Amino acid sequence: MIGYNIQNKDSFAEQARYVFRQLARIIGVKMVEVFDLSDTQATIDAMFIYGGSIPEKKSEWPFIFIAQSRYDLNATLTPHDIGTIEAKRADMPQHILYLLSSEMAQLPRPLYIDRGTAHTKISWDQNCVFCAVDVISTCFYFLSLENERRATDRDHFRRFQRDYSPLGEEIYTYPVVDRYAVLLRQLLQLLLPRLFFNAAWPDNKTFAVALSHDVDRIQTWTMRKAKRALRASNSPYKNPVGRGFRLAQSLFSPENWLGNFNFISRLEQRHGATSTFFFISQHRHELDPTYKLSSPIIRQGIETLRKRGCDIGLHGTIPSATTNGLLELEKEDIEFLINDDIFGGRQHYLCYTDDTPQFWQNARLKYDSTLGFSYHTGYRCGTSFPFNLYDGARELPLIEIPLILMDTVLFLESKQFLSAADAWVVIEQHLEETKHNNGLLTINWHNSDLHPFDVYGYSQLYVKILQWTQENNGWLVSLNQVYEWWCSK
Ligand SMILES: [Zn+2]
Repeated sequence: MIGYNIQNKDSFAEQARYVFRQLARIIGVKMVEVFDLSDTQATIDAMFIYGGSIPEKKSEWPFIFIAQSRYDLNATLTPHDIGTIEAKRADMPQHILYLLSSEMAQLPRPLYIDRGTAHTKISWDQNCVFCAVDVISTCFYFLSLENERRATDRDHFRRFQRDYSPLGEEIYTYPVVDRYAVLLRQLLQLLLPRLFFNAAWPDNKTFAVALSHDVDRIQTWTMRKAKRALRASNSPYKNPVGRGFRLAQSLFSPENWLGNFNFISRLEQRHGATSTFFFISQHRHELDPTYKLSSPIIRQGIETLRKRGCDIGLHGTIPSATTNGLLELEKEDIEFLINDDIFGGRQHYLCYTDDTPQFWQNARLKYDSTLGFSYHTGYRCGTSFPFNLYDGARELPLIEIPLILMDTVLFLESKQFLSAADAWVVIEQHLEETKHNNGLLTINWHNSDLHPFDVYGYSQLYVKILQWTQENNGWLVSLNQVYEWWCSK
């Protein structure tokens, strides 16, 4: 058991407790708050001490002291204030950004130095570690979406986009919280080489890839998409006649017009995977999907998916993200159709405002997976792991399973129109990062980008993700399964 002691009980204590609770599950340890350091508890193996004064070295337990900074200073931060620490050892995360830190005395053995000043930021000796970087407030800044609250811009759908970030886009490139979790785990190991950590994922899997499909339309093709697929730069078929022929094959394939649910679930089954399909139940906005839940294609599709072990979730309409009460009705429609409970879902167009989590809670939904970027890949919450949302004032029971990667970001919506080969370079970076952190890569691959006659290579790209995950001991899993596993930790 790991204890944590928060020295300053007056300000930022609740926020620090929230961060320790989230980190405990990510690191894989049981954590308990210790209010008085002189109150010896035999069950404590090591302590995190968070505050302004370094405790006596002759502490009862090995400890990691994390210097607390003034969190309110975040409001004045600019991209120039972001620091980076660099590891002195090869077995620790090589670099991690930080937002706030203090100057403090250090121990004889340096572990991390500041990239700009070369000052030691983390060091250790015998049974203690000194950390001048305020890991807790940096994690809180990400997990509580503080950066979004500071941003003044919102798009037409009231969405936050990556380039509105007051601290610049770069902060979302890698999962800062996940790298700190790896670092803290390694610091604990340094102090207690025999400390037991709970498994990150079942069956000794190293990492997990959560598969989901937002069902926005049944058919594969639109005119715009066909035109783009026929561009030589986008296609694995370099001969224009070959490309045209392939497109014709695809256009005449009944599965491409009547739903790919059978094709997708079989494909996943072959790779030992399951996934979650998010369906919309109403058409409330001109950009909401237009299919009807009651149509035979959808009813049959859902039956096939459930038979193969896939989950059905809710794809919230655009107005349901900003109007209370709609999600509940939409959820009931799907529950009535499948005669089962819905656990979670994702908003169509990734619409999300400060009020949205409360609407999800009111609808008695247990997890949301909306928080990703519409036009970029990346770590909007600073983490790839599930975590409890924090609404600006308090921790919510609602779990967020952050969305990291969408097919459309790479191809359809992106300004880059990446070919499958170029898209793989981006995807592999995220897979490698996830594997290093024992993390979770949540993917949304629209059903309409998976089809038997693969003109632009994105079905093959999806297969490549499944294969890579299998070969690297990853868990290919649905979002419901992730949620259940996480709650069991
Ligand atoms: Zn959608």
